[in-house]
Amino acid sequence: MKIVRFARKDKARYGLVEKNVIYAIKGDVFGTLERGERAGALSEVRLLAPCTPTKIVAVGRNYAEHVAEMQSDVPAEPLIFLKPPSAVIGPGEMIVYPPISQRVDHEAELAAVIGRRARNVSADEALDYVLGYTCGNDVTARDLQRQDDQWARSKGFDTFCPLGPWIVTGLDPSDLAIESRVNGQVRQRSCTSRMIFSIAELIRYVTQVMTLEPGDVILSGTPAGVGPLQPGDHVEVEIEGIGVLENPVAQ
Ligand code: MG
Repeated sequence: MKIVRFARKDKARYGLVEKNVIYAIKGDVFGTLERGERAGALSEVRLLAPCTPTKIVAVGRNYAEHVAEMQSDVPAEPLIFLKPPSAVIGPGEMIVYPPISQRVDHEAELAAVIGRRARNVSADEALDYVLGYTCGNDVTARDLQRQDDQWARSKGFDTFCPLGPWIVTGLDPSDLAIESRVNGQVRQRSCTSRMIFSIAELIRYVTQVMTLEPGDVILSGTPAGVGPLQPGDHVEVEIEGIGVLENPVAQ
């Protein structure tokens, strides 16, 4: 299934996408759901970020080639940090360049969306707690990240967490091609099989610290090739089996 959130008469609703048509969801997106009435063609509605997380748990340095390009060390345990829910934007929405940064980077990441409350979950059962997967962009003010000892500022600006275009259920996250493009030029090209810590291991690790709620997001780290965005750019994150998340960049 492909689950979307979309705007209709100023109300946000969940829907299912089948062959470029959106159908309303009857029931609970995190429980038992059924396909409801036709809501319109995909091209006719405005898509929103596909979930409304209470928190976004992101993971730094989870691909060895990216660790190397940042001249860092491979961590012995996942390096986690939080992005605020206020940073979330949907497909097509503007990433806004903050006036206090001169260097804003894209980071293409596989995003796992939690489907049911998870606390102290083992790695073996971790994927049972995932509703599905979407594309994420862990937008980062790199100059501010280098100034600060922690990353709440550099990764927490409004619009710095594009998610979408939809959540795909029933996907195996272990071996998916992941790519980012800026103005059509490939910047990052890798595969989720190159993660240091798997999605299941990340869920185990995170849920020994904090309870994950339905709709919460784990951003699983970015591969090599991160680089700067400029106002006027168009950035895309594409993940095999999911689709393409596109966002313009504005001053
Ligand atoms: Mg990242």
